[in-house]
Order: sequence, then C-alpha cells, then structure tokens
Amino acid sequence: MSPPEQPPQADLHCHTTCSDGTLSPEALVAAAVDVGLAAVALTDHDTVAGLGAALAAAESTGGALRLVPGIEISSRKGDREIHVLGLHVRPDDPGLRRLSRSQGEARERRAARILDRLRERGLGIDLDDVLAVAAGASVGRPHIAEVLVAHGHASSVAEAFGRWLGHGRVGDVPKEVVSTTEAIEAIHRAGGVAVVAHPGSTRLRESTVGSLRDAGLDGIEIRHPRHRRGDEERWRAVARRLELLPSGGSDFHGGGRGDAGLGSHGVPVSWCDRLERRAADHRRESPR
Ligand code: AMP
Ligand code: ZN
Ligand code: FE
Ligand code: FE
Repeated sequence: MSPPEQPPQADLHCHTTCSDGTLSPEALVAAAVDVGLAAVALTDHDTVAGLGAALAAAESTGGALRLVPGIEISSRKGDREIHVLGLHVRPDDPGLRRLSRSQGEARERRAARILDRLRERGLGIDLDDVLAVAAGASVGRPHIAEVLVAHGHASSVAEAFGRWLGHGRVGDVPKEVVSTTEAIEAIHRAGGVAVVAHPGSTRLRESTVGSLRDAGLDGIEIRHPRHRRGDEERWRAVARRLELLPSGGSDFHGGGRGDAGLGSHGVPVSWCDRLERRAADHRRESPR
C-alpha cells in the first residue's frame, strides 16, 4: 500500500555552518531533498553568506527543491532581543550584506565580553579558539559552548548553556544589534518579507507584535519546535487578528542532540507562496 498523500511541505527556518549549524549550505539542500521537502528557507543568524552556495545547490536539483533565500536577524526592542526572519530576500542585496558585516562585528565584540566574564570565574578561553571553531561563521554562544566542552568545563553543549551561557547565566551577554524596526526595514529594502521568529518561546505580548506590524512586519512564525502546547493556536489567532501571514519551520541546526529534525515543523507550501506574493507586492511598491 502506498503511504497517505501528504501535501508538499516547506521548512522556513534553517541554519548552516555559516552561523551555528553543523551542515554546509550544500549539505542542507541535500538533506532537504532526502526528507522530501518541496521548499526550504536558509535563515542563518545575521548573515547571508550561505545563500549563493545554497541557491546553486538547489538549482542543481533540477527543480526538486525550492530554496528560499533568508536571514534571521537578532534585533533589539527596548531591553528585549527579538529575532526577525527575512524570507524571499534578494541574496545579493548590498544593504543586507552591510548589515551582516556590522552584526558580525558586534557578535565578535560580544564574544570577547562573554570570555571576559568567564575569565572572572576562572574559565580561561581564548577568543582565537572560539573564532577557530566558528571558522568565519557568524559567531555565537554555541561556538563558545563547544570550546567550553573541549576544555572540560562542561560535558555537553547543553550543559555549557545550562551552567555558563544560557538565560540568566554569567555568559548571557546582550548583543549590540540593530533595532527591530531597522531589521524590518533592511529586509524590505532587500525585497523580502519580515516575520517575527518564535514569539511563543520569546514570550512576546500581542501588543508588542501589534507595534511591530505598525513598523511593517508581514508575518508571525506560528509553528516552531520551542512552541509549547497551545502556542501555535494562540499565535495563529493573533496573526488572523493583526492580518499577518503565518510561517513556520524546524529551526534546524544540523540534527545534533536536542535539535528538531529537518522538516519536522514544516508548513504547507501555500504558506511559502503567500509570503512570496507579499514580497512581490513590496517590490512593486518600492522597486530597487
Ligand atoms: P546567540 O546567537 O549567541 O545568542 O546564540 C543563540 C543560539 O544558541 C540559538 O540559536 C541556539 O542555536 C543556541 N542555543 C540557545 N539556547 C541553547 C541551549 N539551552 N542549549 C543549546 N543551544 C542553545
Ligand atoms: Zn542558532
Ligand atoms: Fe531565533
Ligand atoms: Fe533560528
């Protein structure tokens, strides 16, 4: 008997070695084909560096896989960090490249501050070791966690977060990043749509998302592995009330322990199409 027909799925939130994932952009494309996805969005933290390679790899599948060029921008609104997904962006947009560069520099300064604070606790880690692990990628706490494990200060990345880097720990240092409004504007100038990432895990208020919509937000990521029971329904209702488009994805980082599987939080391809049509509307209203 053949398996039940499943509508083609899109996974609109994935990371690679260009930020803190473990698969290269090419390997992500191959993995997406393997699990039978129709579309996958590459949304590395604060960088568009992987988009060229991923698009070329998707092209060579002869149409088996659509690659949605994207980015996940860390932004600040008041004292909160809000992640904004840019989807269907122009991969060669000079503004996004500039933003990638400045966010990368801010991430390096923050890594140095985290290491200063760890040093005060007697954990001597060199920035060079962290940068070597990141290997040119957008540097973040997962790279620091890996070095902490290598030096025996934690038995796993998860434990490194639990003891040293996670929420409220000594290495939980805020990033100096763009404002949420600037992130939304940069995504629009790059011809894309702006979607607020995992609002359930960040515990955003509906009123906050309402003010982001006034700043141009297009969508809400309602499906995400860190969303608890009820979050998806709650945010789906908010999206309806605020007339924002739904999105979703696995936030795949390569399939390590604790990582949701690629495609595990997929959404119908029609959601991807609606987001793409909204992007096309923006481009018509403000051509580059
Ligand atoms: P950063 O970009 O430096 O703020 O690091 C955030 C990234 O760290 C997230 O995208 C996850 O990939 C990872 N992360 C956050 N919290 C944890 C955790 N408790 N355990 C393992 N990885 C985590
Ligand atoms: Zn990450
Ligand atoms: Fe995020
Ligand atoms: Fe992410």
